[in-house]
Amino acid sequence: MKNDFTFAIIKPNAVKNRYIGQILAMINEAGFRISAMKMVKMTKPQAEAFYDVHKEKPFYNGLVEFMISGPIVALILKNDNAIEEFRTLIGNTDPVKAEEGTIRKIFAASLQMNAVHGSDSPENATIEASFFFSGFERFYS
Ligand code: UDP
Ligand code: MG
Repeated sequence: MKNDFTFAIIKPNAVKNRYIGQILAMINEAGFRISAMKMVKMTKPQAEAFYDVHKEKPFYNGLVEFMISGPIVALILKNDNAIEEFRTLIGNTDPVKAEEGTIRKIFAASLQMNAVHGSDSPENATIEASFFFSGFERFYS
């Protein structure tokens, strides 16, 4: 077991398009257990802080505006090798390049509005999970 949890977001476009249920079903069917879940609308400073690693990127401002355009669903997901398993389930960042059957291939509207976020390392999963959830909000641990 390389790491046992990851942090995920169902992004505003997927919430607006009423895909929460279908995305959660795919997550559960892929073997993940939901350890924590909440729907929130991020403030601009929160979204800027969450995406701080991308602050020098040309897509940063657009990404922040998109992520505060509506509510999101924040999730902590448990599974063996959760980071890699979840990145496989969601597919490539760009839905045009994402593999058939992946969450982004099915639900993304564009490279920016790509339906879901998934942590890219155990260190970032820990930071991102703590950004949204206290220890009292996490189960199955
Ligand atoms: N993104 C974008 N334009 C780009 C690359 C990324 O708008 O050219 C957005 C997209 O929503 C992506 C997020 O920025 O999910 C974070 O980018 P990253 O490279 O970390 O991709 P991810 O880890 O989400 O696959
Ligand atoms: Mg990333």
